[in-house]
Amino acid sequence: MLKKRFAQHLLIGSGILQKLVDLAEIKSEETVVEIGPGTGNLTKKLLNTPLKKLFLIEIDPEMIEHLKNIIKDERVVFINADATKFDFSLLKERNLKLIGNLPYNVASLIIENTVMHKNYIPCAFYMVQKEVAERLIDEKSWLSIFVKTFYEIKYLMSIPAKFFIPPPKVISAFIKLERKDFKESFNLKEYKNFLTKLFSQKRKMIKHKIDETYLKKSGISGEKRVEEFELKDFLSLYSVFLKSK
Ligand code: SAH
Repeated sequence: MLKKRFAQHLLIGSGILQKLVDLAEIKSEETVVEIGPGTGNLTKKLLNTPLKKLFLIEIDPEMIEHLKNIIKDERVVFINADATKFDFSLLKERNLKLIGNLPYNVASLIIENTVMHKNYIPCAFYMVQKEVAERLIDEKSWLSIFVKTFYEIKYLMSIPAKFFIPPPKVISAFIKLERKDFKESFNLKEYKNFLTKLFSQKRKMIKHKIDETYLKKSGISGEKRVEEFELKDFLSLYSVFLKSK
């Protein structure tokens, strides 16, 4: 039985599943984590690659039981957990490749949690709603800036609803997050708070939200609105903040 509350839309079609796995370019000895394996359609394709280990993170205990019955492979570790909160440091591996046909109701939270564990995750491949992918790539929001500070976001392909059971109401997109070479060690929770504060009441000029001495030091005009900021403006403002602490 598929459960609506877990946004269970299964991907079908061997061709499309294979295409996704090909795009993920899984090499031998890689450790892969699949988010929301469901009934295991993508999982089976992943197991045809030379990966070293495959962690499956699935919230639905019934799905986990089903997977345990149909997948007998020594490389697989079943984890019944919530991927929006999962602590990836528990996997004791610094080079995780994440992949998943994400539950769309919590896709943004899973992406946020991915960034929170960026030190363990050089690369992630996610199926999300096309609109969510486009907003992340083209629009400015606290989340898009949070992701883009640490990852390059690439739009790999669109996938029509007919490839899912039951078909979702929206078109889907497969995206790749590729970690940038970013040296500074930010406190991620604090950086998130900084960004959400900047993005609250987006239309307000920045000088009404932030002390002007910070703005002067970072060379940003107080008349600007947050939507007019470039990524580098967020970074220079945040580093002025860090220095003044
Ligand atoms: N990958 C499968 C199923 C995708 S549907 C396929 O392509 O066929 C999304 C899956 O994510 C479902 O199995 C659902 O139970 C699971 N899920 C929903 N919320 C989750 C969460 N917070 N953490 C982990 N898995 C979740």
